[in-house]
Amino acid sequence: MITDKRKVVLVGTGMVGMSYAYSLLNQNVCDELVLIDLDRKRAEGEAMDLNHGLAFSAANMKIYAGDYTDCSDADIVVICAGVAQRPGETRLALLQRNAKVFRSIVDPVTSSGFDGIFLVATNPVDIMTKITCMLSGFNPRKVLGTGTALDTARLRYLLGEYLRVDPRNVHAYVMGEHGDSEFVPWSQAQVATKCITEICEENPEIDRKRLSEIEKEVQGAAYKIIEAKNATYYGIGMAMTRITRAILGDENSVHTVSAMLKGEYGQTDVFCGVPSIVNKNGIQRVLTLSLTEEETERLGQSCQVLRDSYEELARDGQGAES
Ligand code: NAD
Repeated sequence: MITDKRKVVLVGTGMVGMSYAYSLLNQNVCDELVLIDLDRKRAEGEAMDLNHGLAFSAANMKIYAGDYTDCSDADIVVICAGVAQRPGETRLALLQRNAKVFRSIVDPVTSSGFDGIFLVATNPVDIMTKITCMLSGFNPRKVLGTGTALDTARLRYLLGEYLRVDPRNVHAYVMGEHGDSEFVPWSQAQVATKCITEICEENPEIDRKRLSEIEKEVQGAAYKIIEAKNATYYGIGMAMTRITRAILGDENSVHTVSAMLKGEYGQTDVFCGVPSIVNKNGIQRVLTLSLTEEETERLGQSCQVLRDSYEELARDGQGAES
């Protein structure tokens, strides 16, 4: 850790940012939490509101609205700032606007002398993580996105419900883009140490079609929640809290964060959701699962979708290199 205090700076105090902050407070994850937002008044109001809950929590956190100079001795800078899609706006136009937002954030963070870990949640998260890495010039192992951590949690919840097993004993991952091309490598899905494919073979009452439906439900979960309540935030806030604990606690625990691939699964120079070991240095290493040929191909296709998106942005002069 940078100091003996566990310090987190949160940029973007919207729904996702504040769900994360509320979860940090309730789980007593850090000692100091700084809130930064373009809307300074909002950040101040949120800090006041959280501080008024301190008396009811087990935490002894210092929470305040700050500015980018506060990043100098932070352990983690978490970015969930972003602009929302305007009616009729294309995905590329939204991406261009968010790339601009990130320039206005990452530059002052690095100028402060910050030398910790970046954690990114803003969508499209894999692209925004790559942009953060390029803009900061940081070692890619110190820049991670939430990737498919939330999708993996959704998968485990649904599989746990269907198989009637505690989701914490379901070991299965969603890999690739946090988006439409993500997929479940079923060859790697287990209950305790037993493969789910084997469980299916032994139990005719377990319908393999239902497993495919579960995969589709996971892919469509965000759309369904957004249709019902306009945004998703509690689940991602808790996923971010879990990743933050892994970093601050130097846990070496496995999370499907968005990490830069450097030859793993035959892919390079792309950020996507892959099971990775996370500790105080960020990504200690990306695990290489024994995917089938078909699964490796699906991961490659998902990486290509991300590469095309980033290249489209770069062609337009908004890539982090320009
Ligand atoms: P929101 O609109 O509620 O909050 C965004 C905040 O960013 C606002 O407070 C705004 O003032 C701030 N902001 C905008 N530009 C800024 C700048 N230049 N500097 C500092 N602050 C700035 O949005 P939200 O619901 O909190 O969502 C935030 C992001 O998280 C979105 O991109 C959303 O798609 C994403 N998200 C990601 C996941 C995931 O799994 N990774 C899940 C849900 C949402």
